[in-house]
Order: sequence, then structure tokens, then C-alpha cells
Amino acid sequence: MRMTQLYSTTLREVPAEAEIASHQLMLRAGLIHKVSMGIYTYMPLGWRTLRKIENIIREEMDAYGGQELLMPVVSPADVWQESGRWWVYGKELMRMKDRHERDYLLAPTHEEIITTTVRQDIRSYKQLPLLPYQIQTKFRDERRPRFGVMRCREFIMKDGYSFDRDEEGLAVTYRKMHDAYTNMFTRCGLNFRPVAADSGAIGGEGSHEFMALSEVGESQILFCNHCDYAATDEFASVDPVPTGVGEEMKEIVRVETPNCKTMEQLAELLKVPSDRAVKSLCYVADEKRFILVLVRGDRQVNEVKLNNALDCFELRFATDEEIRAHGMEPGYCGPVGIGEDVEIFADREVPLMVNHECGGVQKDFHLLNVNYQRGDYRIDKIADLALVEAGAKCPICGAPLDSARGIEVGQIFKLHTKYSDKLHCVYVDEAGEEHPMVMGCYGIGVGRTMAAVIEQHHDENGISWPITVAPYEVLIVPVNDKDEWLVEQAENIYRSLGKQGVEVLIDDRKERPGVKFNDADLLGFPIRVTMGKKCHETGNAEIKIRETGEVLEVPVDQVVEKVLELKASMLAALQGPYAWEE
Ligand code: ATP
Ligand code: MG
Repeated sequence: MRMTQLYSTTLREVPAEAEIASHQLMLRAGLIHKVSMGIYTYMPLGWRTLRKIENIIREEMDAYGGQELLMPVVSPADVWQESGRWWVYGKELMRMKDRHERDYLLAPTHEEIITTTVRQDIRSYKQLPLLPYQIQTKFRDERRPRFGVMRCREFIMKDGYSFDRDEEGLAVTYRKMHDAYTNMFTRCGLNFRPVAADSGAIGGEGSHEFMALSEVGESQILFCNHCDYAATDEFASVDPVPTGVGEEMKEIVRVETPNCKTMEQLAELLKVPSDRAVKSLCYVADEKRFILVLVRGDRQVNEVKLNNALDCFELRFATDEEIRAHGMEPGYCGPVGIGEDVEIFADREVPLMVNHECGGVQKDFHLLNVNYQRGDYRIDKIADLALVEAGAKCPICGAPLDSARGIEVGQIFKLHTKYSDKLHCVYVDEAGEEHPMVMGCYGIGVGRTMAAVIEQHHDENGISWPITVAPYEVLIVPVNDKDEWLVEQAENIYRSLGKQGVEVLIDDRKERPGVKFNDADLLGFPIRVTMGKKCHETGNAEIKIRETGEVLEVPVDQVVEKVLELKASMLAALQGPYAWEE
């Protein structure tokens, strides 16, 4: 490709809304074009990278038994009503009607469509296992689209679904997908980590999120430096560390605490460290249940865990009016003397704590020396509800956990029979008996992966693509277009690389060298061949490696050979760790 013909516009100024490097660079380098909030066009250079990521995904899926197909973006509502998700998905689901007033939606995911397809087509155990997948547009009307294609509304996802006859089969498929994902993200040049993740109300050891490590990541992950434990903060679970254990239980004291609504104010006034207090928070679940949640005073409630413990669809904080309607004063909530109209959920530490402090229910009062074990209050359900933070003990080896931020680029998930039960997707075994198929699902955000690659591979001058996903592998920059010999040499190298299967771009614009070099650094092609003024005198071209900044002087007639060698070694460094299986 010639730069003069390339449909590409680089920008000097980036819109203020682009807060993170990848978003800014994708706009500056002209890889994407914003059409509407959270809706983007991939421009030719961006699309080349996107397709390369897709192809890496495709190759690995196929190598591990996947079969690509393509489902429609528009789904009829009926199968979503059959699974029940039509009513619980909330506002992210873009619903619409056709000319006959029938309900449809823009699919945010495809469990319903694939499960009802498979239930029609597949009858026998002999036809299993199956692993269909697609790479296709999804729509989610996100509450807060941001960071460009990292969290947008229309995005391209690879979504795969597995159908096995039993749990053993699912375990094998799941492990294969774990390997395939490891290969894919390694080949994309990402520094990532698979971490144990929350698998919703389904529970069990059933999900991993693949996290590209990055400060701008929206997820917090906890990991151990001494063993291989790693989990999202939503899923991490550590042993309870109750305070006051071993002390003799003391009489409850009711103390006046005017205008003391936060843990910090309280700790200051009463001289009670916050880990000796119990924090009480009020939630409303599914608009009908009122819940008082208790955690140790220095902990945060993990709402994902709470959601699972409540087994609810929607969860929000209660309003002050709702709190008062349940007999408590906002800021002074506590469990002592609370009526049956309030469900009391406590984190595992709380019932073990001795002589703890808590809100006194009435305005301007707190209680000291409260003890669940003495029967001072009731708890309806004890569960793991606290957010785990760095420094907590590793649940496997006991070392202090470390934390980091990550971008969730993919997730693999054991669905078991959640959808096959609801949608009656069954097979018949050797004995003629019917069983629900055992399913898994496997997603990757293709655009988000591209953004994550840029987050990890850029500097102040621009992008620095790993060769596997670069829009072009090599850029040739002849800097003196008046020198015929030089232009001819550059054209020869261009043609010859192209013939040998190298993806090469030549900057044939009549621009100053500075402009060409700036654009080269911004667009970030891994190998740049520069043929400057000195080239004619010395007979040498300059090969610059974008990532390291290393410059090699190479005789013009050896440039092709050297580029091929560099390309091969760059590719070799980005191979997946797992061998393909039959
Ligand atoms: P998130 O928690 O970030 O909203 P999710 O867990 O809801 O994502 P999944 O349903 O697991 O997403 O979708 C599979 C993959 O699709 C995710 O791992 C992510 O890479 C990608 N993805 C999800 N939502 C978006 C989005 N709004 N924009 C871009 N990619 C997305
Ligand atoms: Mg996910």
C-alpha cells in the first residue's frame, strides 16, 4: 500500500473526552472514527488490526475444536422470553418492534439463539461435543460508554458456546478454551493474567476472566506472589479475621454520638478502631426486599457477592425515607432490636466479633460491646460479603495478596445446564434416555483487546504494535523524493517485500522527513526502513525497530533479507505456549 492512496487521517488534537492513551492514540492515528456515543467506525488501518486479532482468535478456536458460524444481530423476543432474560436484562438490552408490532432485540450475547438452534438440530450423544462460535457485532446500551472501543455500545465480540454430554466433557472443553485463550492473548502481545472470576448465582469454580494488566483497567485483581492464586476482587475470598476474640463479653453501653455518621468520625470520637466496629448498610433488592448488611467497620461490601447471596436481579441502596420506614435513622443503622420486616445479612466475620460497636438505630446514638454470640441481635443469613483488599492473606498459602488493575479482554464460563434446562436443549444417550446438554460460554471483546494492546504498547510518540497485530509490518520511508536512484531502490524493496508476503507500506508522500517520521512513530509499524540522504553515498539504509528504538545500518541490497529475518524473530517471540490439539 502507498501512503498517498491510504484512507487515513492523523490528528494533531485529540478531543478532551478521550481520557486514556489507547483512546487518544486510536483517534490521533485515525484508526477509529466516532459516529455517535459509544458507536464507532473502524477506519482502514484500524480495521486491519481488528481483522488480525480476529484471525488469531479464529485460528486458535479452530485448532481447539471450534466451528465458526454467524448468527443474526436481530433476535426475536420469544426465545429471550423462554429463558426469562427478556424481563431481567434491564436497560442495556436494546429492544425494538418490527412493522407487525412484534418484539425484537439487538443481541448483547447469543446463549438463547445458539441453544435453540442446537436443540433443533442435535439429538444424539454421538453428535456431541460441539463448539460453535462466531465473531460478530453485539449491542449493549451501556450506562456509561467510555474509553473509546474499550467500553462502547456497539462492539465486536467473539462468542463461543460449548455443548457436552456431561460435566467431565465440559471440564475438558473448558480447559481447552483456557489454553486457546492463553495462546490468543500471548500472540496478540498482551501481558495478561487469567484470574478466577465470579460466575454469578451459578456458583462453583466456574469462570476465569482474562485480564490485560493495565493501570486504566476497570477491574481490580488480587494475586499471590508466592503461589498462583489470582482472582478478581469480586470473587476473591479469604479467611475471616474477627476482632475481639477471646475477650470477656462486656455490658452493652449506649453512647451519645451527635452528628457522627461516618466510620472515621466515630472512630475519632469513641476511640474505637474501625475494625472493632460493625458497619450497617441498607439495600433494596428487586424493589421488594429490604436488607440490612453488616460488615466489619473497615471493610467494604462487595455488591457482586451480596447480589449472589440475595439471589436477586436488582440491587440498590435504600433511600433515607425507606430506612426511616423500617424504623432506623440513616447514619445510625444497626442490627439491635430490628424487626422481621428487615432481612439481616452479615459477612462471615461479624458473628465471630466480640464486643463490637455499631449504630444505635436511633438518631445520635451508638452501641458499644455488642455481641451476636450473646443473642444481642439476629442474623438471617451469614455469607462472604466483604471486598478483599491487598494485604489480605492468600487463601492458598497465607502470603499477603498483591493487587493490580486489569482490563477484562475475555471471559470463559461454565454454564452447566442453566440454559439447556430452561430452553429444553437435550440429547439422547446410549440407553435412549434424555439429558440436558452441559454448556459453557466463551467471550472475547475484539475491539477491547485492540485497545488493551495499545495501552500496553505505546510511548509518548505513539503506538508500537506487536508485529502480529500491526496494520502493516513494515514502513518504507524514502526521505528525498528528488533522488531518482533512492526512490527506485525504495520501490524495489517495497515490491520485493510485498512479493515475499510482507505487509508493507511505502511513504511516497511529498512531505518533509519530520512529518514522515512523526507519522511513522504515531502509527507504530514494527519495522521502519529509512532511506535518507546518506543512503546514496554509503549504500546503506537504516532499519529502525519501533519497540526498542534500535537502528541498524544495512546495505540496500540486503534490506529485504534483514527485514524477513527481523519479522521471523518478532513472530517467533510471540508464539502461544500451548501446542495445538487434534
Ligand atoms: P464488563 O464487565 O466489562 O461490562 P462483561 O463481563 O459484561 O464485561 P461479557 O458478557 O463477559 O462482558 O462479554 C465478553 C467480552 O466482551 C468481555 O470480556 C469484554 O472483553 C467484551 N465486552 C463486554 N462489554 C463490552 C463493551 N461495552 N465494549 C467493548 N467490549 C465489551
Ligand atoms: Mg465478563
